[in-house]
Amino acid sequence: MDSVAPTHVLLVSFPAQGHINPLLRLGKRLAAKGLLVTFSTTESIGKEMRKANNTTDDQAIPVGEGFLRFEFFQDGWEMDDPRRKDLEGYLRQLELAGKDALHQIIKKHAHKDHPVSCLINNAFIPWVCDVAIELGIPNAVLWVQSCAAFSAYYHYHHNLVPFPSESQPMIDVQLPSLPLLRYDEVPDFLHPSSPFQFLGRIAIDQFKNFSKPFCILMDTFQELEHEIIDYMSKLCVIKPVGPLFINPKAPNTSVRGDILKADDCIEWLNSKPPASVAYISFGSLAYVEQEQVDEIAYGLLNSGISFLWVMKPPGKHTDFKFHVLPDGFLEKVGNRGKVIQWSPQEEVLAHPSVACFVTHCGWNSSMEAVTLGVPVLTFPQWGDQVTNAKFLVDVFGVGVRLSRGQAENRLILRDEVEKCLLEATVSPKAVELKHHALKWKTAAGEAVAEGGSSDQNIQFFVDEIKRRCVAVTSTSITSF
Ligand code: UDP
Repeated sequence: MDSVAPTHVLLVSFPAQGHINPLLRLGKRLAAKGLLVTFSTTESIGKEMRKANNTTDDQAIPVGEGFLRFEFFQDGWEMDDPRRKDLEGYLRQLELAGKDALHQIIKKHAHKDHPVSCLINNAFIPWVCDVAIELGIPNAVLWVQSCAAFSAYYHYHHNLVPFPSESQPMIDVQLPSLPLLRYDEVPDFLHPSSPFQFLGRIAIDQFKNFSKPFCILMDTFQELEHEIIDYMSKLCVIKPVGPLFINPKAPNTSVRGDILKADDCIEWLNSKPPASVAYISFGSLAYVEQEQVDEIAYGLLNSGISFLWVMKPPGKHTDFKFHVLPDGFLEKVGNRGKVIQWSPQEEVLAHPSVACFVTHCGWNSSMEAVTLGVPVLTFPQWGDQVTNAKFLVDVFGVGVRLSRGQAENRLILRDEVEKCLLEATVSPKAVELKHHALKWKTAAGEAVAEGGSSDQNIQFFVDEIKRRCVAVTSTSITSF
């Protein structure tokens, strides 16, 4: 590696699975194009990643024409510190410790012949942009949600269109170049009734800081969201580079960023006929009530459809309880169903036995499903999930709506679960959904293939980093 001395890019991730995955995938795409990429997040996450994936620190892993390495930093709190339960307080601590840690990491590399030429962060840690400015290093941001969600935050921040408010909580929102969004289809961190409004404020802080990065990369692709991408491109330098999980230049790299170890389930899927299995997962954070789990279980049982169900353990710093399945449920379903704690999701969705995906509609899961040609049953909870659900059903044409989100405050009964499962798998509608999903799969493949829209944008970005690297070398980053 030393003799090659490639351009070095430092990626800093918000410590959550839905942010780590797309940023690490971007890292692999950049490495595949010949860069040296250091991926960084907190040591508390690093510890889990090492356990789940055999990740080793400080050893550069070849990826395509470049290299990828990991380097984690301390967030300053013990793992069992009870303050970790308070996310808002934790994020303040993360900023405090993270700024200092990044200075140290960057300083260390400046003295080791691998000066950092570009700092890339995902949203929700906007202070990384400040570190880049302080050190005179070019900065880019990876937006890990859809361009439609980006537009919602942008228009909210700049006060360009009316949004739901305390006095008018149920007004619909008309954003340019997008279909009308019902009040409960707008990213709900922006809604006055959301319990997570502080996350909306952090996202907005990123928007306040968007004058600093020279480019905003997005894990979406031109063909999927073309009207809104074209519109927003006139307002900001955005570059859609997705779907990031497909990496044609290094298809066999085994580097993963899971926080939980994936259970074996591919052999079980191999034993099932094509398009016969419903895959169920609500991502890494969303938690459904036990009562809802019972209804889903009976809906699955009554539908007669085979299923693979991810029931993750409750988050470490939460008060959530382990879910339990109804008495005798597993005996009744026998080999027709399999319950696991974590899956290798991209592999599962790419498996020919999978017929549909019951999803919470996190943007990563949404992109993975759409671009692997898998129809979905939308079961959003909060945040941008409610917006993604709207697009999956009404715009991309790949989904059946199962719930509208947590704000609906409604138990989705077993009969609805059963009806929607059958609709998405064996009805005439199922044929239509699959047709649309396959169309997106082809479009995504073309976007990331050499010369495709996303590949061109990644190439532009790599060239731009190299160009800016020449300008920055031996100035500010070596002089602090
Ligand atoms: N994921 C996985 N195995 C699982 C569940 C999820 O690998 O059993 C991955 C999934 O592929 C996705 C990420 O975890 O890349 C979850 O991100 P998403 O945006 O869908 O949801 P979040 O967890 O942020 O709510």
